[in-house]
Formats: sequence, C-alpha cells, structure tokens
Amino acid sequence: SVSIKNLRKQYGDLEVLRGINLEIPAGQTVAVIGPSGSGKSTLLRVLMTLDRPTSGDIEIDGVPMWLDAHGRPAGPNSAHVRQVRGKIGMVFQHFNLFPHMTALGNAMEAPMRVLGMSRAQARERAAEYLEMVGLGDKLDVYPAQLSGGQKQRVGIARALAMCPSIMLFDEVTSALDPELVGGILQILRDLSARRSMTMIIVTHQMKFAERSSDRTLFFDEGNIVEDAESSVLFSQPQEARTRQFLDCVI
Ligand code: ATP
Ligand code: MG
Repeated sequence: SVSIKNLRKQYGDLEVLRGINLEIPAGQTVAVIGPSGSGKSTLLRVLMTLDRPTSGDIEIDGVPMWLDAHGRPAGPNSAHVRQVRGKIGMVFQHFNLFPHMTALGNAMEAPMRVLGMSRAQARERAAEYLEMVGLGDKLDVYPAQLSGGQKQRVGIARALAMCPSIMLFDEVTSALDPELVGGILQILRDLSARRSMTMIIVTHQMKFAERSSDRTLFFDEGNIVEDAESSVLFSQPQEARTRQFLDCVI
C-alpha cells in the first residue's frame, strides 16, 4: 500500500506537487494521466526515493519513508531508506538496460548485488520473469539485438526480479510502435490480476490508462483534480478540466 499525506515538492520557486493526498490499497492498479509538466514523473521519482519531498509524509506498506524505526529523520542513503526503496520497482520510458549484459544478465544483476542472491538462484528467478514477459527464447541476447518492445519487457522482468510490493511505470509504452503496446498492456493486466502488487502507471495513452488500471487520477498543475474508477473517469468525467483534457487528447 501507498499512503501520501499533503505531499509538496518544490524546485526553487516552482511548486511541482502542491499538496497531494492519496491512499492506494495493496493490490490496486492506478493510472495517472494529465498534461505535460503537471508533476506525474515527479510523483513517481519522489515515491522511488530518488527525490526528497519538500514537505508531507509518505508511507510504504505502513512504514514511513523518511523516518527510521526510532522516528528519526533518515538520509537518502541510510539503511532505512534503502530498505523502503527495496520494496519499490520502477520502469522508465527509456529502457536503461545494461548494454554489455544479456537479457538474463540484466535481470540477475540487482538480485545478486542488492539482495545478495546466489548466481544460481538469481539466474533461476530472472529466467522465470523473462519467461513470464514472453522472452523465454531471448535469455542470452544483448539489448542491441532486441526490439523496443522486447527491451521494455526486459526492463519489466528486471524490476519484477526484485520482488517489489510496489511497481511504478513511467510512460513505458511511449517509445514503442503502437502494435507493441498491446503486449505490454497484457503483461500489466496479468500482473494486476494477481492482486499481489500495487502499481502506478503514468501514461499519455488514454486507452492504455483505461485498460490497464482499476482507478485513474487526473493530474493538473501538481494537484489531483479527479480520482475515480477508471471506467467512470473516462466515460463520465466529473470535472470540467478533466473533460477538457480528455477532449483534447487522442
Ligand atoms: P510529462 O508528461 O511531460 O512527462 P510530467 O507530468 O511528468 O510531464 P514532471 O517531469 O513531473 O512532469 O515535471 C513537472 C515540472 O517540474 C516541470 O515543470 C519540470 O520542468 C519541473 N522539474 C522536474 N524535475 C525538475 C528538477 N530536477 N529541477 C527543476 N525542475 C524540475
Ligand atoms: Mg513525465
């Protein structure tokens, strides 16, 4: 689960997140849509602990992100924050794969380095997730030999191999040819159906948002303007600003 209370993030004078309140129960899949610059990626970066909030509280599975077990402020590289970060996996638009490692190597690296898993165990786990995303026949292939959709699936398998309880996806389909988007959608739907992970999916593709999620948030200027069940938000948006946005995008 994710609990966010009055979250603010400023860069200098620019207020990017202006008091976000959000509760996401464990197992829910939430899409985030909204105009460019509205703070969607910032929210994910702050959740991933890559950026520190200016103010407000975040709890991951009931554990305060920036306060240790004694209630003292924890630094970005503290054991406490690293532990919280370990529960979260993130996949980006640009695949960020290690070019000198095979698909299998990419998905084995963090479980070995971060979780201290043995090579054999990491290999088994990585192969399992690569199979799950349909790349069982590409284990020994290097990123340069993979299509964009395949690279993105390696990125997803690599994040899943860390067994996160929360997965964050930032425009994972924007760099893909339209016919490859369906494959990624199916993977996210399969993950969502298991109800074991909490997922947040930021996307500019409205059909993708609607079909991949239980619930959708419409973001504008650092605020959540509308928060509703996905089927409702896309068919009967309540806020004028949401309607205006949905009318303008395809
Ligand atoms: P897009 O849909 O285009 O990806 P977004 O909703 O993800 O947009 P963010 O990337 O969260 O938007 O950016 C929100 C605002 O914060 C933008 O105005 C951006 O320029 C600003 N911003 C983001 N990161 C930084 C930073 N590290 N330093 C200064 N300003 C930043
Ligand atoms: Mg963004």
